[in-house]
Amino acid sequence: MSKEAQQRMEKIVSLCKRRGFIFQSSEIYGGLNGFWDYGPMGAELKRNLRDTWWQTMTRDRDDVVGLDASIIMHPTVWTASGHVDTFSDPMSTCKHCKKLVRSDQWWAMMAEQKWTQSVAELVESGTNRFQPADLLKWGKGKGKQLAPNLALVRNPDVTISWLAEEIEKGRGPADATELYKFLATEQMAITGLVTPCPHCGGELTAPRPFNLMFRSHYGPVESEDNICYLRPETAQAIFVQFKNVLDSSRVKVPFGIAQIGKAFRNEITPRNYTFRSREFEQMELEFFIRPDDAVRLIHGHVEKWRDGADLSAPSPTWGWEMWHRYWVDQRTKYYDSVGLGTDVLDYHWQKPEELAHYARATVDILFKFPFGTEELEGIAARGDFDLSQHQKFSGKQLEVFDEELKAATDKLSDEQKKEFIDELFEGRKCADTTREEISVYADKLFKGFYLPHVIEPSAGLDRMALAVLAAAFDEETVTDEKGKAETRTVLRLHPRIAPVKCAIFPLLKNRPELVAKAREVEASLRRHMNVFYDEAGAIGRRYRRQDEIGTPFCVTVDFDTIGENGPEKLDTVTLRHRDSMQQERIPIAELRARLEAAIL
Ligand code: ATP
Repeated sequence: MSKEAQQRMEKIVSLCKRRGFIFQSSEIYGGLNGFWDYGPMGAELKRNLRDTWWQTMTRDRDDVVGLDASIIMHPTVWTASGHVDTFSDPMSTCKHCKKLVRSDQWWAMMAEQKWTQSVAELVESGTNRFQPADLLKWGKGKGKQLAPNLALVRNPDVTISWLAEEIEKGRGPADATELYKFLATEQMAITGLVTPCPHCGGELTAPRPFNLMFRSHYGPVESEDNICYLRPETAQAIFVQFKNVLDSSRVKVPFGIAQIGKAFRNEITPRNYTFRSREFEQMELEFFIRPDDAVRLIHGHVEKWRDGADLSAPSPTWGWEMWHRYWVDQRTKYYDSVGLGTDVLDYHWQKPEELAHYARATVDILFKFPFGTEELEGIAARGDFDLSQHQKFSGKQLEVFDEELKAATDKLSDEQKKEFIDELFEGRKCADTTREEISVYADKLFKGFYLPHVIEPSAGLDRMALAVLAAAFDEETVTDEKGKAETRTVLRLHPRIAPVKCAIFPLLKNRPELVAKAREVEASLRRHMNVFYDEAGAIGRRYRRQDEIGTPFCVTVDFDTIGENGPEKLDTVTLRHRDSMQQERIPIAELRARLEAAIL
């Protein structure tokens, strides 16, 4: 992270604490790593983000319904989903300081350390060439404080002399990563190259898998029989309740089930403020679609993605690729509606080797955080993996009956059905599927049954809150009424998500008529939006306080409002706009409609 980015991040963190957005959990007891609390402003911001997501993903649509499931579920849910066996990250332990390091984040963590930055200054820029004498001096001096357990620091002469030997034999460090490993290695013949601990430079153990699920027990007895897990994602409850939702609501494939709720992951190294926490909130949609084979049987063809295809109106002939692109497009539009335009977003289309075995395609929507461009949301095309796993483990039928499919396949001759099976078999030869399995699957399709496939847009609420705060944070130099330059800190939050929509000020607090009128304006708006009344201090200071928490509008009640300067401006107020700082005079009667037009 550059120095400027680091400073920017520090300012955001400090503002969040000072103005009541985010606090460390249990702060008075020294905090708890990876857990965060949202203060009065943060609670409002999160609620607004949650509401916009829910509104866009469910209420604005007739093909998505909601779910609010329990956090703790039957433990077999997590065996079926694969979490018990594979939901782990590789972890190493430092043999010296005993700190734990998520092995696949080792390089990112190294780059953030003072000692690696200090070593990097000794290396010729753009190369990994260095003067051994400089490193030796560093190991005997600065290094002692910065990386006390690094071999170069504990045993500088030995480390440097064998490093020089290796270089002489043409086996020196090939890149920066290897250079740090060389500096951590004292006895190459015994240990091989050692990976240094980012924190102290000591030796890290080889990576081993660490399951990220929080385990507990239900009921009074703690035994292997009543193990349960805090859910590591909200999605599985949607799959588990799929049949109940289908049977109790008037939904038909394609349709979606949306859920917002807490998720827990025992992250090895929570980092970057709230970005990677151990308790967080997810907003997930499972959108169930017909398998492409069913679409083909009904419509004769499947529309696949091609550049420039129209994604605005779903078509019954769409295959999974079109639906996947559609949701990427929908989610991009959503982010824009809360102030995260394409200028601050990026996309990572996972390469085939990065994809989970069941995923056909996954795109991560990334946000340009000050600490790097990182994932905000993942949108995966997951096939029928989840439903088929739960069908297998629960023994319950989760297939749907599709009348249109049945009607279409009833018209097929035996010869056409055989041709269809032949085509499927040809297409899946490489997927390790036997002809018998294909026939069973096709027979179900001919009877109108299938397991729907799934497109899953999965977003993190806390990451989104951090992203909108980071995007909104701004500092600008302005001159006050007396001509003095000062720095104005302003959160340019989209009005839809701003914690306070409008602040109301009487010009002077010691004039009861002004106070009464301002209170009247406040009361008229309070039922419709979150407002804030403030009478303390000079008006300029009050504006600045609201700028800092991102309040898009301020209303001031002055002597014109109460008619002291004549009847023309009676019952009008000044409306001040946060971003431009422009003020305008508007009748109180028009205030609510003006504000609502901006915040809805
Ligand atoms: P990462 O690679 O960053 O660990 P992931 O790919 O494991 O994330 P998913 O399992 O796809 O994440 O979860 C969906 C979303 O949930 C993520 O895009 C993110 O917004 C959020 N999320 C996941 N883990 C965390 C966490 N530890 N803290 C905060 N949000 C998280």
